[in-house]
Amino acid sequence: MGEFDLIARYFSNIGVKRTDVSIGVGDDGAVLQVRDGYDIVVTTDTMVAGTHFFPDVDPRALGHKLVAVNVSDLAAMGAEPTWLSLAMTLPSADESWLAQFAAGLHETAEYYNCQLIGGDTTRGPLSFSMMAKGQVPRGKAITRAGAKVGDYIYVTGTLGDAALGLKWVQGQCEISKKHQGHVLQRFHYPSPRVALGQALRNTASSAMDISDGLAGDLPHILRRSGVGAYVDIQRLPMSQALKDSCTAEEAMHLALSGGEDYELLFTVPENRRGSLDVLLSPYGVPITCIGRITGAVGKLELKTGEQPYAYQHQGFQHFL
Ligand code: ADP
Ligand code: MG
Repeated sequence: MGEFDLIARYFSNIGVKRTDVSIGVGDDGAVLQVRDGYDIVVTTDTMVAGTHFFPDVDPRALGHKLVAVNVSDLAAMGAEPTWLSLAMTLPSADESWLAQFAAGLHETAEYYNCQLIGGDTTRGPLSFSMMAKGQVPRGKAITRAGAKVGDYIYVTGTLGDAALGLKWVQGQCEISKKHQGHVLQRFHYPSPRVALGQALRNTASSAMDISDGLAGDLPHILRRSGVGAYVDIQRLPMSQALKDSCTAEEAMHLALSGGEDYELLFTVPENRRGSLDVLLSPYGVPITCIGRITGAVGKLELKTGEQPYAYQHQGFQHFL
């Protein structure tokens, strides 16, 4: 099967058919209708075999994750996801693999109301690069730069579950039968907080999604906003699965430094804090206040109650 048959068969009908796509897959470029009074938000994520996923990963899960991690960046900006494009490099055209991969892309693109509008296909070492585009009312994108001294810091959901899943898949820990499903789901099928991100547009002063672990990601907000923060680690939200599967210290480490949770991290000014519970209750995703923004520029203080907590973040960085 040649490149064009492959695109036509597997990649020409991914996601929903959006009415704002005048031309999708098949021409030299896609033609998209932009809503008046909206800004476009654009993000890209690449996944390379051996670096971001195991070469023998379930292709359906891979398809899901590729869409999910991109859509999560849009969620963090308060944007509504709309269009996806996909540059892929394949060593060969394995049809059953591609069919599963495309099914994973499709399910998740459809769930988030996105359409795949184009891409590029080449032969080479297995890797995928997706670009996602979303829309947000003009000027309403939530950035990393808006946190102010005194703002409260929140996270959605629970932290550390995806990292626990990775450890388990690598045979580095044991997980009891009753928690295995939850942990695998969190690792392979992350749920970007798309509706919640949009709900925060007029309430959060800053936001980002947690892809590299809280202790690695929160400093990005601190740098961009020119502020500091303290976080009470006793308040970090952890699933029962995480608490039951590790020592307290290991659970804390995974919650602080474990990547790939794709939860939202956001700050809220004191005077908007009271409306949060009511605002977010329709979304069924718990939020937890974990600390506050301070004036100690660039400094992240971890505390347990009132005591300082000594902790060395070990995040993953390419090229180090
Ligand atoms: P060109 O050579 O003009 O760049 P291509 O031959 O690369 O065009 O692609 C043909 C059409 O197929 C284009 O509309 C392109 O967007 C689309 N396409 C290529 N690869 C993919 C892919 N992996 N997923 C979705 N669409 C793709
Ligand atoms: Mg062309």
